[in-house]
Amino acid sequence: MPNFAIDKLRDIAVVAHSKAGKTSLVEAVLFDAGAVDRLGSVQEGTATTDYEPEAVDRQMTVTSTLAFCTWKDTRLNIIDTPGFINLLEDSRGGMRAADGALLVGSSIGGVKGEAERLWQYTEEFALPRLVFINKMDRDSADFYAAAEAFEKTFQLEAVPLHLPIGTGEGFSGVVDLLGMKAYTFAGGKPSECGVPGDMEERVQAYRKKLVEKVAELDDALLEKYLEGAELTAEELLTGVRKGSLERRFIPVTCGSALKNVGIQTLLDAVLLCLPSPQDMAGLRPLAGTDPRDGSEVVRDISPDEHFSAFVFKTIADPFAGKLSLFRVCSGTLTGETNVVNTVTGAKERLGQAFYLLGKKQVSAQNLGPGEIAAVAKLKETNTGDTLADAAHPVIYKKVDFAEPLITYAIEAKSKGEEEKVSTALHKVLDEDPTIHFSRDEEANEMLLSGMGQFHLELTLEKLKRKFGVDVLMKAPQVPYRETISASAKAQGKYKKQSGGRGQYGDCWIEIEPLPRGTGYEFVDKIVGGAIPRQYIPAVDKGIQEAMRQGLYAGFPMVDVRVTLYDGSFHAVDSSEMAFKIAGSLGIKKAVAQARPVVLEPVMKVEITTPEEYLGTIIGDLNSRRGKVQGMEQLPGGTNQKVGALVPMAEMLTYANQLHSITSGRGLYNMEFSHYEELPHHLVQKLLEEKKKVEAEEVK
Ligand code: GDP
Repeated sequence: MPNFAIDKLRDIAVVAHSKAGKTSLVEAVLFDAGAVDRLGSVQEGTATTDYEPEAVDRQMTVTSTLAFCTWKDTRLNIIDTPGFINLLEDSRGGMRAADGALLVGSSIGGVKGEAERLWQYTEEFALPRLVFINKMDRDSADFYAAAEAFEKTFQLEAVPLHLPIGTGEGFSGVVDLLGMKAYTFAGGKPSECGVPGDMEERVQAYRKKLVEKVAELDDALLEKYLEGAELTAEELLTGVRKGSLERRFIPVTCGSALKNVGIQTLLDAVLLCLPSPQDMAGLRPLAGTDPRDGSEVVRDISPDEHFSAFVFKTIADPFAGKLSLFRVCSGTLTGETNVVNTVTGAKERLGQAFYLLGKKQVSAQNLGPGEIAAVAKLKETNTGDTLADAAHPVIYKKVDFAEPLITYAIEAKSKGEEEKVSTALHKVLDEDPTIHFSRDEEANEMLLSGMGQFHLELTLEKLKRKFGVDVLMKAPQVPYRETISASAKAQGKYKKQSGGRGQYGDCWIEIEPLPRGTGYEFVDKIVGGAIPRQYIPAVDKGIQEAMRQGLYAGFPMVDVRVTLYDGSFHAVDSSEMAFKIAGSLGIKKAVAQARPVVLEPVMKVEITTPEEYLGTIIGDLNSRRGKVQGMEQLPGGTNQKVGALVPMAEMLTYANQLHSITSGRGLYNMEFSHYEELPHHLVQKLLEEKKKVEAEEVK
């Protein structure tokens, strides 16, 4: 027997821009539902779901965390997600495990850019949504403007279920438009009161809107409504649920998480407007692939199905090892279930599973569909993997996380700790699929890539706290290259005759520029044995080694054809070594005469922004030596897409800049496009900077 009847479960992700009050809201929900006996606070660092030190210090959620409670016989599994722009991919991962989104809106100042992105994710996972306009206790809070902003931004009708009584200091409760009753909330508990006289007109108008929207969902109801008949309470409730689950409108409610007002009415709205795992079967069928033959598998969301679960998050714990957070998709997980990771093929022994209430672990058995839990120490399981009954395997689709946008070089604060850094980093990376770690062999650097500077700083902070390694972040090195812009011929001759056996190698080469991206070509035109066959590869090797080191500004040289056409040798003194050196001398001389240039990587950048920032964005791109390639109005709304080619050196800190220009509403992605010649005055600057850095390193 599973622990919960499937229609008595709600898996919800609480999502919003940063500081909207998500964590405070979750806290109030847990308190009102009796899951915690003390109302924790973000300011005091006692909120249940902001327990990681990085979150407490910043008073902001930095990673998705879990909580649960029971409201009116229904189990709520809650995923509290981060809202900061750099961390939204983590929220997306959390949303993958949810069936509905509780979107926390601001009572002041419209819909934030982060919310637009989160909205896209609700579309991606077909999540019904409920909007809670929080902070109604703030001065100048305006519920109606906030609801309208949602409507405008998302081009979908906002339908209030509750209206606020008073605002700011005077905010005391809500009018329930479904039951047509008013409530105040002393101590968080609703107590019925009369609808304030000055709200009558508004209440009637919004009730009419609600009834109309419900009637429009169904022909029979519409007919009834148009004939002037009242819809029954039952018809209204069923209609609101249907409209919400089918995402035909946005149900909206309001309150104050801080003052614990409107939370219990919100909880009622969650049960009404967000789906149970079973409802999801109709909205988003549970489909995956069979790893044995790639065929499609559709599972029933039932406790009697074969067991399958999706791992949506991993938490690295230095003491407990790795925690895998999963959602049971089908079947029931018992001690007897023979579990395999269907992605890696590894058999996994699942130890004791537990529910998480913030950091608190509560052991759990017999997990049924829709349940969210964690398990420690899975050996070969990562975020995005599927766990399933070994005899009935299935793989569910992973979230296709965004590629990192920004890269920094990192180094261990104490010399000699590189290995330790790398090992610890790999563990932290398990937690976060949007952090990439690599090594740049050319610059001999460790590189850390992520969604923004803040994201990387946070990762390094975590690394220090969890694994005790201190890491410094440096501006990343741009992979410059060099090449030639003319042809030239030169002789490379190495001759050393000082007692004993001498050294002798001599070659004549011609170099020519090749098209971009061609690399290196070596042509052997030696005839008549001017250089014996066995020494020719040595010449080539000497040239390539010199090119890798750089022959002009210290960057690898590319796109050059080298033709070896003449030379001479000495019967006794010639050797491979001598010809290698001759090759390197030859290429050095030739390059000096072939008008060498520096090449810089140019990125293809795509920016999406609300129209109002377009001018500033283009001005900024121009100041970054960018070339705007095109602009395009995006369908539905006022967003514009700008395509541009911008040198990589100018894009290293763009994430922060775009965020500040557009107040977090602009998005961008970029990929490498091609190499282009760096203007001469910038070459000089680059060389001076390089010298400075090298001088620093010698010190
Ligand atoms: P999150 O980043 O969305 O999780 O937001 P938090 O819950 O951490 O809250 C951000 C800030 O807003 C904190 O200082 C809270 O005390 C404050 N806050 C949250 N809810 C309310 C509210 O209803 N009214 C007021 N006035 N402040 C609130």
